[in-house]
Amino acid sequence: MERTDVLIVGAGLAGASLAWHVAGRADVVALEQGDAPLGEASAQNAGMVRRFVSGAEERELACRSHERLAALHGHPDWVGAAPFRRTGAVIAFAARAPAWAEEAAQDLRGRGAIVEDLDAGRLADLAPALADSRPARAFFLPEEGVCDAWTLGQGLLRGAIGRGAELRCSVRVESLRIRAGRVVGVETSLGPVEADAVVLAAGAWGEALGRTAGSRVRLTPRARHLLQTREHPLANAEHPWCWFDDAGLYLRPEAGGFLCSPCDEVERFPQPGPGSIGRVDDSGPALTQHKLESHVPRLAGLRMRGGWTGLRTFSPDRRPILGEDGDVPGLFWVAGLGGFGLSCGLAAGAVAADRLLSALAPCADGI
Ligand SMILES: Cc1cc2nc3c(=O)[nH]c(=O)nc-3n(C[C@H](O)[C@H](O)[C@H](O)COP(=O)(O)OP(=O)(O)OC[C@H]3O[C@@H](n4cnc5c(N)ncnc54)[C@H](O)[C@@H]3O)c2cc1C
Repeated sequence: MERTDVLIVGAGLAGASLAWHVAGRADVVALEQGDAPLGEASAQNAGMVRRFVSGAEERELACRSHERLAALHGHPDWVGAAPFRRTGAVIAFAARAPAWAEEAAQDLRGRGAIVEDLDAGRLADLAPALADSRPARAFFLPEEGVCDAWTLGQGLLRGAIGRGAELRCSVRVESLRIRAGRVVGVETSLGPVEADAVVLAAGAWGEALGRTAGSRVRLTPRARHLLQTREHPLANAEHPWCWFDDAGLYLRPEAGGFLCSPCDEVERFPQPGPGSIGRVDDSGPALTQHKLESHVPRLAGLRMRGGWTGLRTFSPDRRPILGEDGDVPGLFWVAGLGGFGLSCGLAAGAVAADRLLSALAPCADGI
């Protein structure tokens, strides 16, 4: 029977990042149910790289990823264009900023990041779409930016393949193989594959697969709208992305208009097999319009011309799950990247790879 050191289930950003960090240090096979990698949540996101977040662990991962993202293009293994582009970002609070925001600003400044306090005049200069907005508090982070998930994921996968990893698409993992209480491989639509370690980087499908081995890891996918507005003169590439954090509204310039989200969340598990993107329903545009009227009056009434819903998958405490399963030996996770897989994915893959390789080191040949 075929076997490998590390078998990764899923070739989204999580699987790609893990493969990049493990390839060359162990034999890696990544299996993807879609006919191409990076086709699910990793193709449905808003592309914003954000370090200004409430959770300390997420902030740490985002800071490490930001540093790596900005340097990737110079990496000897990097093939292709630079995935990250600096645009600057405004993080605003409609009401008084919560304590975590002041802490995050301090923490980021302590790490050397630029975090400016914004007054109304400077806000209008930097982000003209917000010129008539009156947030109670706003910060500007000139080093934040956007990342093209496809360019990032493809570059990571190509680098991993260049170091010997194998990527197989159109192969669906149906369950995990267990022997003497340990995960020893997977059953796939094309037959079994054995492995010293199986890593679930399967996004919204992860919980169901983990259950086949008795894992108690819980992951909940939540659908969110992303809506593209009609063209608008203020939507030029220099406009920073803007997030009204407490109001749940973000926007960034895209395709001559703005890509906006009302930050909605509706629990929705995907069907088995590829295809998690969803259609816009009436609630998404209505909620977005309402929030634009309240917080970004300059864009009030701007019509939407399309959009989609995508699945963000969270653990119960919204922290990522990186490393060995607490109950099932041989099973590892890079999961629960929620709404921060682009911002944190590079560092999440690095952390998971180190945990995986140190767990395997005593027992595996050649690692
Ligand atoms: C609307 C929206 C906006 C977002 N905006 C941002 C943002 O601005 N910034 C940010 O940092 N993050 C953002 N995100 C989050 C980010 O996109 C995700 O965190 C990230 O893409 C998750 O990557 P993943 O690899 O875990 O999941 P996925 O990309 O879903 O990859 C999982 C892969 O596993 C495969 N798979 C599943 N089951 C099996 C199986 N049984 N056999 C074989 N293959 C399998 C799937 O086909 C899929 O390709 C957003 C997400 C959404 C939906």
